[in-house]
Amino acid sequence: MSSIDEIKAVGIVNSLKDWPQAKQFTYKPHKARPQDVDIKILACGICGSDIHASKGNWGELPLPRAFGHEIIGEIVAMGEGVDSSKFKIGDRVGVGAECDSCGKCWRCDHDLQNTCRKSKSLYLSTYDDGTLVQGGYASHIRVNSKFVIPIPEKLKTEHAAPLLCGGITGFRPLLSYGVKKGTKVGVYGFGGIGHMTVMFAKALGAEVTVISRGYSKKEYAMKLGADHYIATSEEGFESKNYDTLDLIVNTGSDFDHESLTKVISMLRPDGRFTFITAPPAGVKLELVPMFYLLNCIHIGGSDIGSPKEIEYMFQLAAEHDIKPMVETFDISEENVTKAWEKVDSGDIKFRAVLTGYDKFFK
Ligand SMILES: [Zn+2]
Ligand SMILES: [Zn+2]
Repeated sequence: MSSIDEIKAVGIVNSLKDWPQAKQFTYKPHKARPQDVDIKILACGICGSDIHASKGNWGELPLPRAFGHEIIGEIVAMGEGVDSSKFKIGDRVGVGAECDSCGKCWRCDHDLQNTCRKSKSLYLSTYDDGTLVQGGYASHIRVNSKFVIPIPEKLKTEHAAPLLCGGITGFRPLLSYGVKKGTKVGVYGFGGIGHMTVMFAKALGAEVTVISRGYSKKEYAMKLGADHYIATSEEGFESKNYDTLDLIVNTGSDFDHESLTKVISMLRPDGRFTFITAPPAGVKLELVPMFYLLNCIHIGGSDIGSPKEIEYMFQLAAEHDIKPMVETFDISEENVTKAWEKVDSGDIKFRAVLTGYDKFFK
């Protein structure tokens, strides 16, 4: 394919200690493979993972690095191995947090590429030729078309972007549980991921309870369709709500044994509690088997979603007119810094999206 040999980006150039000072740089993409497409980026959401990774919460990373794995853009070049019945030049498409997998294991064979043991993740991995996998705070991205998602026309670019990581992360546990009309879903934590999870659970017909620390988010939660609201700051909240939930999705950052146990105790027998957000490195939880045994409760986790699951999520989002609440920032060194600081302090209602790529990268 006619390839791009230099990509302009904004990210961390010298040391993760420079956070939140973002700087411009350029990089050479990996050599184009038959299955690759080149995408001109239009927008990219800012995920909590971008903050963890760029700040060094998950350890050192080879630099320079562009972060961002909620990418919407247009295809500008296609390799000869790309499925031309699915994609053509000019299509608006999305790329999420995964960009490659082995394609041969049981998991890849069963549309669970997100769990492939050899999967590569956008901006944390390295390609086999030694090129760093870069993210979406950049003019373009070259990526395996198997991980490229068509975006329904009905969805606006800035609303579609956050679905590619935050959206699917909260949606997949609902799919995996088999949420349907009447399932009682608890969404624990009401931020970027949580507010999207509420909308998807409603779209599947669930009765949704938002569980948050205080009451400050109640109005937003009810506006987005939540049926009930529980504040964990209220003494005895758990016993007042015993056996009201089938599934709880932990969309926030509570990894504390004591408070988690209270929240989990609201589940009905055979209920499920699912972790979906990444804790800082090294976090471990105490597990008291007797508690799970006596209450017949399942505890587990879920990581993003496969391309097939992401495509299904976008169909549902288009059908149900799901629009995440976003704050947009025109991409620049200053605005990446500003947006990172706002996301890090929790001062965003509810997801930040970088836009204005044409103006900045020209
Ligand atoms: Zn695999
Ligand atoms: Zn993410």
